[in-house]
Amino acid sequence: MTWIPNDLPPERGVFCNRTLNLRSIRAIGYDMDYTLIHYHVDEWEGSAFEHLKQGLLEKGWPVENVVFEPEMVTRGLVIDRDLGNLIKVNRFGYVKQAAHGRTFYGFDQLRRTYRRTLVDLGESRYQFLNTLFSISEACMYMQLVELLDEHKLPGVMNYADLSNVVRLTLDQAHMEGELKREIIADPGRFVDLDPNIPRALLDQKEAGKRLLLITNSGWNYTKAMMNYAFNPYLPDGLTWRDLFEIVIVSARKPAFFSERAPLFRIINEEGELRPCQGGPTEPGLYLGGHAGLIEEYLQLNGDRLLYVGDHVFSDVRVSKSVQRWRTALVIRELEEEILALKKARELQDGIAALMHRKETLEYRQSQAKLALLREEKGHDLDGLPDFSQPLKDEVDQLSETLKDLDSEIGKLVVQDGNLFNEHWGYLMWSGNDTSHLMDQISKSADIYTSRVSNLLPYTPFAYFRSPRGTSPHELSQIYKMPPAVECE
Ligand SMILES: [Mg+2]
Repeated sequence: MTWIPNDLPPERGVFCNRTLNLRSIRAIGYDMDYTLIHYHVDEWEGSAFEHLKQGLLEKGWPVENVVFEPEMVTRGLVIDRDLGNLIKVNRFGYVKQAAHGRTFYGFDQLRRTYRRTLVDLGESRYQFLNTLFSISEACMYMQLVELLDEHKLPGVMNYADLSNVVRLTLDQAHMEGELKREIIADPGRFVDLDPNIPRALLDQKEAGKRLLLITNSGWNYTKAMMNYAFNPYLPDGLTWRDLFEIVIVSARKPAFFSERAPLFRIINEEGELRPCQGGPTEPGLYLGGHAGLIEEYLQLNGDRLLYVGDHVFSDVRVSKSVQRWRTALVIRELEEEILALKKARELQDGIAALMHRKETLEYRQSQAKLALLREEKGHDLDGLPDFSQPLKDEVDQLSETLKDLDSEIGKLVVQDGNLFNEHWGYLMWSGNDTSHLMDQISKSADIYTSRVSNLLPYTPFAYFRSPRGTSPHELSQIYKMPPAVECE
């Protein structure tokens, strides 16, 4: 069972895929951006979009009229670099929705294009939108696909080439640090403060957990953001630096978990570096390095370490698959998704009732079809009812009724998903199946929650138990069809 402390609403719960006892965790590592520090997405991503647009204008591209439309994209979608599409994939790898530029595929086009495709994220054809940082990039890509189709982008060979240019231009905007300088100058505009995050970490430290900050951001930016978001909410005399035994900046995740880069010590506030061969020997500020050095310093194995981050691949998938660390994913959109699900309960009851009726009618239709077939073949079997014209009528009539039911169900399903995003539906669902994103989360994140501060009321001693899985064969899900005579 999933449980929630009395004072938390359901959308602020901590949800468990794989049982995790916080008492057995000795060290907790945190990512910073969108984990310890949450940004106003429209501001941050809107600003990233503008920098990207500026970079493309400087290349002479006609992007004056492109606009930031964050509702066109959600985390967990996939860019199909071969076809210039944005796609939504279910847990089996099948494409369930697609948009070329900003035009959505209809059912037939979707089937024609993707019926033989199973999406494997390991292929370079696909680019998974792992984090909220992907929103601006995907928004721009969708609109540039339209310009490429109109032959307005000089020198771009194809859709894959286009995605490379967008990524390169965005990376340049990040690397040049213009965006980060803008944020440091006006953090109030960009940072969504949460006083309970520093408090949750303080509890963890007091309870004996060894805390680590492992971020890809550079020293100056990390220092500015953490000063702003943490220090005002800690008891007098304490700063964020007192919470963390080890701080690692410019960590280069996911390589941090899978490769062996050299480590440097940061020796002063200006960020001056000194090589640190052999790994850290004492608490402090570091740059680079790799996860193996941290385990050695802490003298802990992976199952005693919990890493908390928002990036589905870099923070949870790689840290788990390579280092076997325990993992927690922070996914802020979960709050909106759970609120939408709450509103949708009535709709979903309606869908379930219609599905039940559909299954009953399908069963009756199968029986009638088989009865006709047997009659045609002249099998005269004892105990079978008399077959006659009414059966043919019934098969036809049932086909019509089922078609009507399908359209009714289809409308309700669309209405249901629209409660979260009008174009793509729920993050965690794709039609009747879970989405590829949810599949990734189930496999890689031991626990997941909308924000780090949700850990506060659970305490550092919480025991998260995974709910008993529901498999199709479980008895509560099995219902009996009524006898044939009772079917409508
Ligand atoms: Mg992050």
